[in-house]
Amino acid sequence: MLNPDDTFTATVLGLPRIGPNRELKRAIEAYWAGRLDADGLHEVARQSRTAQLTAARAAGLDSVPVGTFSYYDQMLDTAVLLGALPERVAAITGELDRYFAAARGTARVAPLEMTKWFDTNYHYLVPELAAATTFSLHPEKPLAELKEALALGIPARPVIIGPITFLKLAKSLDGSDLLERLPDLLPLYEQLLGLLAAAGARWVQIDEPSLVTDLTVAELSAVRTTYQRLSEVAVRPSILVATYFGSLGGTLPALAATAIEGIAVDFVTGGDVDAAAARSITSKLIVAGVVDGHNVWRTDPDRALPRLTALRDAGVPVAVSSSCSLLHVPYSLGPETDLDERLRGWLAFGAEKIAEIVVLAGALTAGEQSVAAELDIARTAVRDRAADPRLHVRAVRERLAALDAADVRRTPAAERRVRQQERLHLPMLPTTTIGSYPQTGRIRIARAQLRHGEIDQAEYDARMRAEIAEVIALQEDIGLDVLVHGEPERNDMVQYFAEQLDGFATTSNGWVQSYGTRCVRPPIVYGDVVRPAVMTVDWIACAQSLTAKPVKGMLTGPVTILAWSFVRDDQPPADTARQIALAIRDETIDLEAAGVAIVQVDEPALRELLPLRKADQAAYLDWAVEAFRLATSGVADTTQIHTHLCYSEFGEVIGAIAGLDADVTSLEAARSHMEVLDDLNAAGFELGVGPGVYDIHSPRVPDADEIENSLAQALKAVPAERLWVNPDCGLKTRRTEEVTAALRNMVAAAAALR
Ligand code: GLN
Ligand code: ZN
Repeated sequence: MLNPDDTFTATVLGLPRIGPNRELKRAIEAYWAGRLDADGLHEVARQSRTAQLTAARAAGLDSVPVGTFSYYDQMLDTAVLLGALPERVAAITGELDRYFAAARGTARVAPLEMTKWFDTNYHYLVPELAAATTFSLHPEKPLAELKEALALGIPARPVIIGPITFLKLAKSLDGSDLLERLPDLLPLYEQLLGLLAAAGARWVQIDEPSLVTDLTVAELSAVRTTYQRLSEVAVRPSILVATYFGSLGGTLPALAATAIEGIAVDFVTGGDVDAAAARSITSKLIVAGVVDGHNVWRTDPDRALPRLTALRDAGVPVAVSSSCSLLHVPYSLGPETDLDERLRGWLAFGAEKIAEIVVLAGALTAGEQSVAAELDIARTAVRDRAADPRLHVRAVRERLAALDAADVRRTPAAERRVRQQERLHLPMLPTTTIGSYPQTGRIRIARAQLRHGEIDQAEYDARMRAEIAEVIALQEDIGLDVLVHGEPERNDMVQYFAEQLDGFATTSNGWVQSYGTRCVRPPIVYGDVVRPAVMTVDWIACAQSLTAKPVKGMLTGPVTILAWSFVRDDQPPADTARQIALAIRDETIDLEAAGVAIVQVDEPALRELLPLRKADQAAYLDWAVEAFRLATSGVADTTQIHTHLCYSEFGEVIGAIAGLDADVTSLEAARSHMEVLDDLNAAGFELGVGPGVYDIHSPRVPDADEIENSLAQALKAVPAERLWVNPDCGLKTRRTEEVTAALRNMVAAAAALR
């Protein structure tokens, strides 16, 4: 039962952890490199937590999440908590080294697999479980972080991942139904609740983001029994079940029927708790996620406040929160001194979101007049954003409105194939690569020198042209049929375009954890997207001038640019995708006009934006496919469009891949053993396809026989006229020697089969 004297009003669901200046990232990497010992690493971590928790408290949060800190990943931490690390790391001595071995592998031990955390760009480690896995409780980390926070005077709320989400996201090694392991896990959670209470926790947050996905009847009943049972623990903290990334739908009443004290609801992606649902939960604290934890926009108080007051007026105890952990946004706007001043006013990163939450909570508890000045600033910013002409560029909107079906349709693929072949004269089983070549030390040095002003842009460009010349010569020497320029001039396949398009901003310190110590700096799409000038033509033309073989133009597709950016929340993502598509379309046409015969438009993130609930997926795939087609249908039949997709589970998007209507699709397939080809056939796919013939994620050089075998296997599913020969992804992360040897073997394998 909720104790009215023991609630809170302002919180967030989790905090970022890499450090405001990526201090933790650097310390962990120093530890891996042997430059810092374990004590040194723990000390950096402790200082970082102390500063962060103290700041969150000082900013006015009256309940602060603790335990969302991690040296690598929260799912891995949960596997440690439950004694469920894989057997193969058990023999590794030293807790920290065992932990990192599970995360990254060692020379002898493979790491856990990694996959996307719901629909974010964060990747978690997938615990490996089986019917025979034994669980045991190892509560040291949550207890230590709780004690540390309490000693600092922080109103600490330990956060742990709930048993349902843990089991649903784990991989079943033996095909057994992991949900059947709940009865073995629940006693450990019960024990942990007791320990946390004894250590002084008043509240515990149990994260169950899986509850916003489609649940089976059995899963729904597991939710009910799990939380009923945990609520029956005699001495325990109040339980807040945190859900985020979507709406609870029918799961809300199930959760509300248990005797837990609080439910965190995502009001940003999930929508409101409706009046009927509110009536069923009057005796629980609703932690209302009205501040977007997954995007960077300042909250509109006139949208958030009415939702909060409606709940309160319905008699529901309510606290203000972020919609999800702040893990997914940068720390603070503080360092972003280079941002356009106007745009800066529209944004809220982590620190600013905490301040917003405190203001909204103040308005809710002490009345709007108590925070009148702050609300005024927020309202002014929101109005200023809506009125900025960059958000409504007439020319773009008129062009989009004038498009019709013909603009997203090309001549039938079979006819195109004939015309393209007349132009290109490619051999049977043409060989190519995916775009990037190794990022050499020379490239990195040139980039650093340019950044520090030691060389000018002209010198930098000259050095990049020299890189291109080398990559072209290498490919000619290897004997590849379709060449690429190698992408040396691109820092990142999305940021490179974001920097050249109007309507995008990039940050100088807006780092967000992608996985482990890897961080990304997503660009921000704030306005209508306009391509003020050609972006890639000079580089590709330079490459093409050096060879008689065709060089592929290389672009990033609209869906991927969208997926790897913070997107505007004032229009549907589909509209933003169409604007980006138009810019890419113009670029394909300019490449074509410059004599480029093949243009590749990469969409590795096509599957990433797939909605969590089945019912929403078809609509997404429709607009995603249409955006790609808009980007690629402006060229003549004689121009060959390639695309590249790179994740191994194509499942739900197979139909969409056919819908893209690219003349040639290269796929990451080396690790999924060509099964994807059968799936494509089943979906009626009849275009060119290049299932990756070797795995570029490993330094291993495949020999020609091995590649020949996998090609022979592919030929069982695809006629030779449609089969392309390529690695399974870009070569950026590999060394030149590995790449050269592997590609020579690949070319030899193709030649042997011709
Ligand atoms: N063309 C890009 C490259 O080769 C594709 C990268 C990707 O698939 N993520 O690097
Ligand atoms: Zn790829």
